[in-house]
Amino acid sequence: MKQYQQIFQNAVDALHEEKRYRVFADLQRQVGKFPKAIYRDGSDDREITIWCSNDYLGMGQHPDVIATMQKVAGSMGAGAGGTRNISGTNHPLVELEHELADLHAKEAALVFTSGFVSNEAGISTIARLLPDCLILSDALNHASMIEGVRRSGAQKQIFRHNDLAHLEELLAAADIDRAKLIVFESVYSMDGDIAPIEAIADLADKYNAMTYIDEVHAVGMYGERGAGICEREGLMGRIDVIEGTLAKAYGTLGGYITGSSALIDAVRSYAPNFIFTTALPPAIAAAATTSIRHLKKSGVERAAQQNQAATAKRVLAAAGLPVMPSDTHIVPVMVGDPVLCKAASDHLMKKHGIYIQPINYPTVPRGTERLRITPTPFHDDALIEHLSAALVETWKELGLPFEHGQDEEEDAVKPELFPAAGG
Ligand SMILES: *Cc1c(COP(=O)(O)O)cnc(C)c1O
Repeated sequence: MKQYQQIFQNAVDALHEEKRYRVFADLQRQVGKFPKAIYRDGSDDREITIWCSNDYLGMGQHPDVIATMQKVAGSMGAGAGGTRNISGTNHPLVELEHELADLHAKEAALVFTSGFVSNEAGISTIARLLPDCLILSDALNHASMIEGVRRSGAQKQIFRHNDLAHLEELLAAADIDRAKLIVFESVYSMDGDIAPIEAIADLADKYNAMTYIDEVHAVGMYGERGAGICEREGLMGRIDVIEGTLAKAYGTLGGYITGSSALIDAVRSYAPNFIFTTALPPAIAAAATTSIRHLKKSGVERAAQQNQAATAKRVLAAAGLPVMPSDTHIVPVMVGDPVLCKAASDHLMKKHGIYIQPINYPTVPRGTERLRITPTPFHDDALIEHLSAALVETWKELGLPFEHGQDEEEDAVKPELFPAAGG
């Protein structure tokens, strides 16, 4: 029927009208060359530099991780062969769950096919099992957490982002004996800020609430063994459920929750989005374990990432670019308009061979559209210098405002690059 197609076309047209229709770059990553990749835009394929990857530490191309994946695929096959419920669990997945429980110092872990599914299944199942549960959810929580809250059917209250006073007000208003679940993230990935985890744990104790934290943008990257911000701050024991992904800093695929044996066993037994879907293939599980084990012992990648992120922030800010304040490895540069944000991204790719995906609504609130830059250990100082010059040229070309009125003194935009590098 013709009108069916029209409905889909209208939905897409509406996005075009709002200037938030998304185009995905057609890329081919090359082992050993990250962050360089081949960009295929139909006619001319060319090498570009990726500045927005969530393969934060380049573990997706780590030789040990690749070797494990190849070896296990060769010996155990390509697929998992079914749901764990019907077909049992591949042994590498058992090992992975032990590794994750150990990483976060919890009794048990449960692996899902993605971080998205782990939040959706984890939050919804926990909140559904708690009688008359009240969920307190940070206003900037990720879409996967919002989906989990929704699916639980539980009452929810949203507290203003990282606002302890507001959270306490909501907790205090609820019956002390009522089940409560506070859901929040450690590192918020669009602003790069960090939650006041200890203070939230204190409030949870005071008001008899459970805590669920998403450490997706922190696992592998913070803490002595890469377990995240809770590890860095000595707080792993204060949070009931720690959730993470294997797809970002660990460079593979999958998501997980860790917690008490009873809680993990209950989610394993009751979550349909765990029970009725095929498990991760053994090769991916084994590769993830290799990546986790490597980052438990090696701090080199973490240190280099922090170093390059700090350098990028310093160099871009010195060039007068509107770098948003960030406590982490994430470097957001504000544009504040969806059309200009997309135009800046297109211009960077076309003229400079730099790929930075524009971040528009609904990923961030309208009016805060931005370029989100994620330096890795493989973005060396020369690449940062190139990025800075390209951004400055783009800002001028599009008439975007510089910080501190530096746009008015064109010649003044000559930042001293890497002031710390020589000293
Ligand atoms: C990416 C992301 C997820 C989902 O993880 P995947 O493994 O990519 O599905 C969950 N939470 C946050 C905050 C994320 O940014």
